Amino acid sequence: MTLAELQELERTSVVGSYARLPVEFVRGEGALLWDEHGNEHLDFLCGIGVTNLGHCHPRVVAAVCEQAGRLMHVSNLFYTEPAMRLAARLSQTSLGGKVFFCNSGAEANEAAIKLARKARAGGDVVVLHGAFHGRTYGALSATPQEAKQAPFAPLVPGFRAVAAEPRALAEAVDERTAAVLIEPIQGESGVRPLSHELLASARAACDEHGAALIFDEVQCGMGRTGTLWAYEQTGVRPDAMTVAKALGGGLPIGALVTGERLADVLAPGDHASTFAGGPVVASAALAALELSEEPELLAGVRERGGRLADGLARLPHVGEVRGRGLMLACELDVAAPEVARRALLEQRHVLNATGPTTLRLLPPLILSGAQVDDALARLRRVLEA
Ligand code: PLP
Repeated sequence: MTLAELQELERTSVVGSYARLPVEFVRGEGALLWDEHGNEHLDFLCGIGVTNLGHCHPRVVAAVCEQAGRLMHVSNLFYTEPAMRLAARLSQTSLGGKVFFCNSGAEANEAAIKLARKARAGGDVVVLHGAFHGRTYGALSATPQEAKQAPFAPLVPGFRAVAAEPRALAEAVDERTAAVLIEPIQGESGVRPLSHELLASARAACDEHGAALIFDEVQCGMGRTGTLWAYEQTGVRPDAMTVAKALGGGLPIGALVTGERLADVLAPGDHASTFAGGPVVASAALAALELSEEPELLAGVRERGGRLADGLARLPHVGEVRGRGLMLACELDVAAPEVARRALLEQRHVLNATGPTTLRLLPPLILSGAQVDDALARLRRVLEA
């Protein structure tokens, strides 16, 4: 089928909730994608922070193929080895508690909200301005952005949004607070790392009032920032965290991971999902997690991230460069959506804009130094033209 034919099918048959760019991708390998004409593209978006290990990583593909040929689904009424092993590995590499599987980032946050509300019945959930936690009703209610929330009112009650500022946050937490839900680095609002003071203030307020501090690591986890989990670099340990996106190595899976204190809050019947932690996706995730833990990979993320950030700061039209590791954004003095569009169509460089002047870069963690330089050269050509 031609791109025009696909666009016609979309026009007649697909709900118009996405604004797609006019490219069809048919194959991917490592940091590269190929379109329907065989043109090679350099991928600095990773399907919005999903294909962190590059496209079609051989170990992930082998795990999927091997498991898909053996057993695909039985539900959580029974045991399967991949889910149990993945839960153990996730817990061991992070908060040491227990894991609830689901299928996306929004669902992981739904599970976190339910957990916190069960731990403190009727309690509020405090969230920060600029946060993005997903599009389902609970997650959307935790996402205080007018344009995303307003068409879908009424939302779930009991969410309080406060400024991302230590004092405001501390004052918002009291004995009625069930949880403070925070992205340690706000992703969708333009890659904004929260300060140590803010996170420490959230930790202290939650400790004082017995509320749960929950970190949303859906975008910043899985090695993206140069440590397996972003919280490791903050000096603040949450009581629970949510993970998704890159966890499945390209397949859909989400997880709520608790620390010990919250490990046994949810009981049989409290929460469930038919597909969650199925053997194929759990096998893929186990491979992805093992690969993402590798110290050499994480050191590479820090090195390449520094090189990319330095290079971005030297490009024309670029002001502030923000982020950690390979989760970066830069502010432009020209329209970022147009720059992203031209980068794709003229330079075959895939990245995206999170706002009118904010360009976001989420390249694969297996990126080479030469690919960093290649990307900077492509972006320079767009910005200089
Ligand atoms: N939380 C964060 C921090 C995210 O960046 C996203 C998606 O961008 C979500 C939650 C929602 O994840 P999903 O789209 O898988 O529901």
